[in-house]
Amino acid sequence: MQREDLVFAGYCDWSGLVRGKAFPVADTEARLAKGMGLTHSNIMMSCFGPIYTTPFGTVGDLIIWPDPHAHVAVPFDDGTAERFYLGDVQNTDGTPWECCPRDFLKRAIAALAGHGLSLRASFEQELVYTGVEDRPGSSYALDAYRRQGGFGEALIAALNAAGRTPDSFLPEYGSRQFEVTIVHEPALMAADGAVVLRELARGVAWRLGHRAILAPMIEPGGIGSGTHIHMSLWEGSKPMTHDPARPYGVSARAEPFFAGILAHIAAISAFSAAAVASYFRLTPNRWAPVRADLGVQDRGSALRVAPIFATAETSPAEQFNVEFRVADACCCPYLALGALIQAGVDGLKRGLSLPAPGAAAPLLPRSLPEALAALASDEAAKGWWSETAMSAYLAFKKAEIAALEGLDDAEICARYAAVY
Ligand code: GLU
Ligand code: MG
Repeated sequence: MQREDLVFAGYCDWSGLVRGKAFPVADTEARLAKGMGLTHSNIMMSCFGPIYTTPFGTVGDLIIWPDPHAHVAVPFDDGTAERFYLGDVQNTDGTPWECCPRDFLKRAIAALAGHGLSLRASFEQELVYTGVEDRPGSSYALDAYRRQGGFGEALIAALNAAGRTPDSFLPEYGSRQFEVTIVHEPALMAADGAVVLRELARGVAWRLGHRAILAPMIEPGGIGSGTHIHMSLWEGSKPMTHDPARPYGVSARAEPFFAGILAHIAAISAFSAAAVASYFRLTPNRWAPVRADLGVQDRGSALRVAPIFATAETSPAEQFNVEFRVADACCCPYLALGALIQAGVDGLKRGLSLPAPGAAAPLLPRSLPEALAALASDEAAKGWWSETAMSAYLAFKKAEIAALEGLDDAEICARYAAVY
């Protein structure tokens, strides 16, 4: 049997899933220029598969435009390979489509550039690897690390081969739970990297005959898997986030940015904690946030000022970053990071201040419907994308909620765990 090398051109959609089409590698040059066809209603494909509702109908054509900077070509020793491009969704005239998730982030990056700043981000991903015996007492244990066999090493090698810079791989608190991190990169690359990390985790686990489950909770009352997003602001190559003399160690320049995130956190949650099951994770006593708060080195807060290591090679100013913990792998990283940046930009525009340390913080949304209601009524969020995109996104997520009606929490967790 002969085989022709194919490469998949996809985009990470509103569900955070990569969908698209493959073409022969031999046609790469032409395809990079022309892209692959798509229709508007594809964006309304739910995470469970069906299109429950769409304002776009059956008419119209779009292009998935593969980005050569978001290319993955990773060979595996069984003779198979992960070959894919991540791309933008464009109109047939080459302009960005108003619902394109990657363009949502690009516009946020441009808005921040208007304030003379850029953002670097790093995504940490927690997951459950099914190739490990579910054995209690193995939290953070060398034994748990050993028993995952070659998964971690194959995943780190795959990330390296994909041009990312992995930082660490660790056994997490849950007995089959692990975490993978990538070093910080400019915002768009970081979001691309988050998608690549998820797909390679799935791809490596699949080749080993198992699954990497990235869903926020695989069972009610279990251990949550979060996507933690570390952020720092830069002016050119100069780190701008840190001032050890100020509250929280956050510089005067960066304060309004993070204050903007706190001000819009309920609306951001509609993108970052985008699933019904996301809110099973955002409950007390699971090292996940429940309030719209900023804490210094507090893993229970929504925004956590990460530590500085005095003995590290890099300076405190370069290390200093703030971690957003209200996210999980059901989110589209472009939408989540784009919303964070846009909220930060609104804070910069309005010159917002952070609450005094210790001040009482409001609760985060406690469900996806609450987060969607917050997004729908957030005036600033209306400027983050078009009215068409906003109303389609709200309808899309409401249809996902309706599709789960009548299921209990365990069944809801199972539905998401089957997909993510
Ligand atoms: N698993 C926790 C979460 O759901 C986080 C644990 C940690 O701090 O690494 O976010
Ligand atoms: Mg962790």
